[in-house]
Amino acid sequence: MTPNHRCDAIVVGAGPAGVAAAITMAKGGLKVCLIERGRLPGAKNLFGGVLYPHALAEVIPDYAERHPPFERPVTEQGYWLLSPDSVVRIMHKSVHYKTAPTGAYTALRARFDAWFAEQAVQAGVLLITKTTVTEVVRDARGRALGVATDRPEGLVQAPILVIAEGVNNLLTQSLGLAKGDLPPRYVALSVKEVLALPAAEIEARFGLAGADEGVAIDIFGDATLGLPGTAFIYTDAKAISIGVGLLLEELIVHNLKPYEILARFKAHPVVRPYLAGATVLEYGAHLIPEQGYDRMPDLVGDGVLIAGDAAAMVDAVHREGSNLAMTAGRMAGETALEAHRRGDFSAAFLRAYRTKLEESFVLKDLKQYRRMTDFLDSTPHVIGTYVDFMNEAALRYFTAQGMPKREMEGEILGLLRGRRSFFGIAHDMMKLLRGLRG
Ligand SMILES: Cc1cc2nc3c(=O)[nH]c(=O)nc-3n(C[C@H](O)[C@H](O)[C@H](O)COP(=O)(O)OP(=O)(O)OC[C@H]3O[C@@H](n4cnc5c(N)ncnc54)[C@H](O)[C@@H]3O)c2cc1C
Repeated sequence: MTPNHRCDAIVVGAGPAGVAAAITMAKGGLKVCLIERGRLPGAKNLFGGVLYPHALAEVIPDYAERHPPFERPVTEQGYWLLSPDSVVRIMHKSVHYKTAPTGAYTALRARFDAWFAEQAVQAGVLLITKTTVTEVVRDARGRALGVATDRPEGLVQAPILVIAEGVNNLLTQSLGLAKGDLPPRYVALSVKEVLALPAAEIEARFGLAGADEGVAIDIFGDATLGLPGTAFIYTDAKAISIGVGLLLEELIVHNLKPYEILARFKAHPVVRPYLAGATVLEYGAHLIPEQGYDRMPDLVGDGVLIAGDAAAMVDAVHREGSNLAMTAGRMAGETALEAHRRGDFSAAFLRAYRTKLEESFVLKDLKQYRRMTDFLDSTPHVIGTYVDFMNEAALRYFTAQGMPKREMEGEILGLLRGRRSFFGIAHDMMKLLRGLRG
């Protein structure tokens, strides 16, 4: 390899994982090259999205003074269980959500990623945009030496690489660390729109007192035609983020078009009034890796560390991904710093990265929910059946018909038994419990 540039470390991808890794290494004194294929960091990225600043605070302790472009603090969150004509809402509102750093904020990736990458540049990172890494260059023994890019004279050399390339993990696959292409049953496709609406209108519709309050709602049931998947509605400063996501396999098997499902969701009688008069600012789609702990790629190779979506670090149960990515990126950065100190970039030494992750919430949570995708895959009826039942049960429960309550309770039980046998219910509950307990 005759390099055109030399660095102490190369990071591929300027998403949350890559930027966290780059900042950590730059603060530790390394010369870091952060390579991003987008025109700007964030240009290619999309999420729901709710950001959890606990992970950001570990990378940039004074992040609040640097004015990150958050949209609104999340002060109310929960679930809507949507049937074709009604909804059961399970929402939680608390003043404690306003207390950073334990809170959460809505954010738009185009703005947040650009800000985060700017913090990396201020820490001394060399950010190279509009450049795609096409190959990891290795020696005869398979040790990473650097990367080739799509630029003329684009060979960059470094003894260690952090690959944070996101869900389309082509480089990770080329190193033999991922177990091939993601099968459609383990990857979700999400489509999202950002709808412009005046702040006062958002606050009136969602019952918010002002710009320092916001809502995050995850929606199950009719939003995804009862199939395994979720929809979401999050309030931004002057917009609403709305989207739906389903496992690719469900889209293929049922011949569904994601944008049609989103249009149908937006037209739902419960949802439509929140969106009235809003205009589309942005539209996008993105994949989410949901293969879980047991099918994650290997996290290290000789001279290589893998972080974030590239290694399937997504907790779909709690819609967390950006915080897992930032934490993993930071830990990859810390491990790279130790490797530099020791002059040892072997996979054997870099395994310390996996140990750090095993001791953190990242792999503990992924391990706990390791069976969740299989649970949904093996019980595709579960969301539709129980969400519709809960809506019908609520209608009976809240409607006075001059009927003795015991009879009403019997009717509700009958509604459930009409959908699922006693053994069917016990079976679903057992599987759900296993999915949640690992
Ligand atoms: C619809 C949706 C909703 C979500 N909602 C939430 C949420 O509410 N909260 C939450 O915490 N998480 C959420 N997530 C998950 C979260 O977005 C991801 O887990 C997180 O972005 C992963 O960060 P990353 O840095 O690993 O990857 P990414 O953010 O995907 O970044 C990867 C970067 O690498 C670049 N890249 C890729 N290949 C190359 C290459 N060869 N050369 C150079 N650059 C390259 C890309 O352009 C990109 O900038 C959501 C995801 C989706 C899709």
